Amino acid sequence: MHVPPFSLEKQLSEIGQELDSAVLEVIQSGYYIGGEVVNKFEKSFAKNIGVKNVIGCNSGTDALILALRALEIGSGDEVILPSFSFFATAEAISNVGAKPVFIDVDPQNYLLDLNLIEEAVTSSTKAILPVHLFGCPVDMSAVLSLAREYGLRVIEDCAQAVGSAWDGKAVGSIGDIGCFSFFPTKNLGAAGDAGAVATNDSELAQKIRELAIHGMPRRYFHTRLGYNSRLDAVQAAILNVKLTFLPKWINKRQEIASRYFDLLQDLSEINLPLNLDLKENIHSWNQFVIRVESSSNKSEIVREKVISSLENIYADLPNSFSRDFLKTKLYEQGVNTIIYYPIPIHLQPAYKQLGYQIGSLPITERLCSEVLSLPIFPELNLKQQEYVVYTIRKLLES
Ligand SMILES: *Cc1c(COP(=O)(O)O)cnc(C)c1O
Repeated sequence: MHVPPFSLEKQLSEIGQELDSAVLEVIQSGYYIGGEVVNKFEKSFAKNIGVKNVIGCNSGTDALILALRALEIGSGDEVILPSFSFFATAEAISNVGAKPVFIDVDPQNYLLDLNLIEEAVTSSTKAILPVHLFGCPVDMSAVLSLAREYGLRVIEDCAQAVGSAWDGKAVGSIGDIGCFSFFPTKNLGAAGDAGAVATNDSELAQKIRELAIHGMPRRYFHTRLGYNSRLDAVQAAILNVKLTFLPKWINKRQEIASRYFDLLQDLSEINLPLNLDLKENIHSWNQFVIRVESSSNKSEIVREKVISSLENIYADLPNSFSRDFLKTKLYEQGVNTIIYYPIPIHLQPAYKQLGYQIGSLPITERLCSEVLSLPIFPELNLKQQEYVVYTIRKLLES
């Protein structure tokens, strides 16, 4: 059997025709930039997450940049964020001229460690940027109270967390601004790049709207330097169709996660992710990420291979032989897993100038050597999931 980490095959067989006719309608209308279809998506998505304003844009990365720019964060400013995230979270901060200040994460939920925010605050800090990583919501009550205490803004990176909620509120509707990505593998995926910014602050919304179209409040009149970052009508049409399926898909993800918990909980060789109470705090399970600690002795076989494939700078990172062994063996058996993320952002060559060393953020560095994402997507069927579990068990027991 072959189990992919993600597949659209079944989804397309179910809703492909609906998508085709939605796209065709846009093409035949001749109205490709903005217009009714985009407005409709912005309104429906706003309603879906319970926020006043949603502005569609080009990507999740652009959503972060637009949010930072709208809050006038730039040169000389600092933004606090976890290093355990996709690179774009930090990249957006750097690309507006501000400085990313990385803090370590909590090894249980993989999210920024709330106890470390306070000591990272300086007179230059302007914002906290929590990432609802893998679909697990950050404790926004705690983030907001710290933000209030220090007069900081809060930008939520919700790229992986469409459908997640904290204390009964959808993520992205809680901080000052929420940033979403509709990259194809996210919980709500377009057929290409797409993103959105959400905010309850209508003044900020207006500013974001202008920034996304060349800082242009009215035609050919430019008040600030902006971007060309719009949500295409074709993508909006696709998202309009898919949004109606979102509750069902999130449900499926939760079902799959809950089955993984049932089927894997007795295995002492692996650590399961935090299983959230699903009433007020909703986990949307964009990824199901287990940890394989490096103490297992089954790793020697791939040891040499891994060392030789790493650049010297990474050789001192906590070793990942057990995880990589499991990943390689699963792959040989047809189970395709992914590592989110193998190298922490603070140790990326692109951030050399920030001066972080190996050991700066030990939990993040350890997680990068231990995490493994098991296949989880709404169309993953029971047989496939049972095969994943069976294969893991067989490998760990052999
Ligand atoms: C995907 C992702 C982004 C960037 O979104 P794009 O739409 O790919 O630009 C940002 N942050 C996180 C955590 C992501 O997973």
